[in-house]
Amino acid sequence: MEFRDLKRQYDFLKEEIDDAIKSVALSGAYINGPAVKELENELAEYVGVKHCISCANGTDALTIASKIWNIGPGDAVFVPDFTFFSSAETIAAEGAVPVFVDVDEYTFNIDCKDLEAKFSRVKAEGKFNPKAIVAVDLFGLPAPWPELKGFAEQNGLLLLEDGAQGFGGAIAVDGEKKRACSFGDISTTSFFPAKPLGCYGDGGAIFTDNEDWAAMANSLKVHGKGSFKYDNVRIGMNSRLDTLQAAILLVKFKAFKERELDFINKAADLYTNLFVEKGLVADCREELGHGKMLMVPQIPQGYLSSWAQYTIRVKDSESRNSLQAFLKSKSIPAMVYYPTGMHAQTAFKGFADYGPCPVCDSLCSTVLSLPVHPYITKEEINSVVDSISEWRA
Ligand SMILES: *Cc1c(COP(=O)(O)O)cnc(C)c1O
Repeated sequence: MEFRDLKRQYDFLKEEIDDAIKSVALSGAYINGPAVKELENELAEYVGVKHCISCANGTDALTIASKIWNIGPGDAVFVPDFTFFSSAETIAAEGAVPVFVDVDEYTFNIDCKDLEAKFSRVKAEGKFNPKAIVAVDLFGLPAPWPELKGFAEQNGLLLLEDGAQGFGGAIAVDGEKKRACSFGDISTTSFFPAKPLGCYGDGGAIFTDNEDWAAMANSLKVHGKGSFKYDNVRIGMNSRLDTLQAAILLVKFKAFKERELDFINKAADLYTNLFVEKGLVADCREELGHGKMLMVPQIPQGYLSSWAQYTIRVKDSESRNSLQAFLKSKSIPAMVYYPTGMHAQTAFKGFADYGPCPVCDSLCSTVLSLPVHPYITKEEINSVVDSISEWRA
């Protein structure tokens, strides 16, 4: 069994993808071909923002956002402790201080209470200027954007949505469905192959309603170009999405909208229903200890996940490692996302310390992500659940 079976997806889309690749090869327009603009337009429309600017990867998308806002030395940026390294790396690379915020133990997303506490500490200390919040739609589930928006507005903070794992997710806001990558003042995503919408290499995009920021993004990604390519008005980067990836994404995006988002939600529901049926699910953390119970992902009312991961929790690191090893013995790959919180990363040693993130620490030692993708079969899900029951017995 594969953890995320991209080859099986290719089997389903082979004819269309092969045609798309061939037509780019024949066109000779390998950079800035028509597929790039077409993709940007389609993505902006789906997400519900005015501008989508493609770029080379999700990390560059975050960097470009930081550069647009002039995030730099003296600034503090709040970022969840439980995330992929890029979310915080890009802030530090610009010279700003990432302030690590603990996460909610049920959604794994940024905890607004701890955000408030960490913000107050930075403010009271007066050493750094609180500038922005980077919130992450972890494992496909949108962060608590309505609360974050209120907090950001109240305190004059910019909101950056790291939607690398969140593309396709949504929140019903006042009865209206709002899609991931529309929640930040600037939002970003990644098309790394294993993300909810992935290409066949690296790729990324920036989303915003702001005309000026969109223009800046278009400039920054091409060496800070001004009115034309050889007029350079700022220090930028070389960060383009190539035509081949855009053409592949156009095919995959169609399948994503038409069925894959639906398929993966069915797969996640099946996991959860089977775990509940077998009596394996604990209602709260305290119950995890009794007879090797587990906790299933929690999707708040009104939220839709795009299931970058289906992540369960067990009692402690010993149980988690034993379950992972047992599944491996049955040829079932299960992964630990993430084993280390940002505050504990070697690279962030020596950064200002704004206190512990105990929930993140506990998640790092107890989470396990199971195989999930749009084309996983019922039989495969059944065999994972059966193996977990067997491990438990
Ligand atoms: C994958 C990922 C990124 C970086 O995307 P790349 O395309 O690999 O650069 C950033 N943030 C999060 C949360 C991610 O999962």
